[in-house]
Amino acid sequence: MKTRTSLVAGLAAAALCLPVAAPAVAAPSSGSATFAAQVPSAQAPSARSGSVGGAASAKLGKPSYRKLQTTKKRTSVTVRVTKPRYQKVALQRKDSGKWRTVSTTRAPRAGSSAKVTLRVPAKAGNRAYRVVLGKSKHNKTVVSKSFKIFQSDSKKHAKYIAKARSYIKKYCPTTPIYIDSPRVKDSWAIGMAWTRWKATPRWTGKGWVYDWKWTQTIELASGQDAGQLRHTAIHECAHIVQARPIGKSEAAYDASKKAEKKIFAKGAADPQEQQADCMATAITGSTRYNYYTSSCKGSRAKNAKSMWKKWGLKYQNPERRWTTPAG
Ligand SMILES: [Zn+2]
Repeated sequence: MKTRTSLVAGLAAAALCLPVAAPAVAAPSSGSATFAAQVPSAQAPSARSGSVGGAASAKLGKPSYRKLQTTKKRTSVTVRVTKPRYQKVALQRKDSGKWRTVSTTRAPRAGSSAKVTLRVPAKAGNRAYRVVLGKSKHNKTVVSKSFKIFQSDSKKHAKYIAKARSYIKKYCPTTPIYIDSPRVKDSWAIGMAWTRWKATPRWTGKGWVYDWKWTQTIELASGQDAGQLRHTAIHECAHIVQARPIGKSEAAYDASKKAEKKIFAKGAADPQEQQADCMATAITGSTRYNYYTSSCKGSRAKNAKSMWKKWGLKYQNPERRWTTPAG
């Protein structure tokens, strides 16, 4: 059995931050990753499940949703209803300590289980939500655990987002930008970039392939002046670009990381943070706002420029999906 590299196995996420000012002792967080071993093998039996008869009561699954949304382009909450019998399904939001229903739908009339989708109405801020399955003659009322969804205020920050976007239009034209998200608001960071990727093995009948997908986002703190915002936006876009070699192959990503680690080895800060700062310098021509390093000449400048050139214009889709052969 061949062991896959950690990159391709399971799900990985990385957060890369740009702090407000030097935290006295804390090292800048350099991302985290969780991996679940998923080794495809031709002998892997498929999962089976089923049920016969019984009088189980209707149930609600765990709601599935996006934590980061905007008031302009919202998504929805989906939840599985076991034993759907045309029950009312409601999405509730907590406003000033009180739960109120903000959207409703109905479960299907029959079947053993079904996914139900609830629209999330526009409401800026980080708010608590829950799903309520209305009672029927088959079940009592079922209430999900509450969960938080943040909606970035598109109207309030329209100008600010447009400004940030203008600095990264060429290289991150469609990466979503969220302003004052909880992670940025409750930390020392003024910017964050996330790339979450997942490779799921799939049997095609002839062999195994991986279905890949990634989600890329940028989070920024409000209130940055033009010079600072420009640097922060480009630095975060640089993190987005750092992950793009994954879109080509694991080998391309490994090669890119290897070069980054070698060229940006010196200095206290994480090489990928130093590289992002130097990638910003490569565009602005200044190190004035650099936080992790101001040493961006020679091989560092060359590498920073080559990152934009090689990956800046490729794989720009922040919701990209693609398939590769496994093995
Ligand atoms: Zn960073």
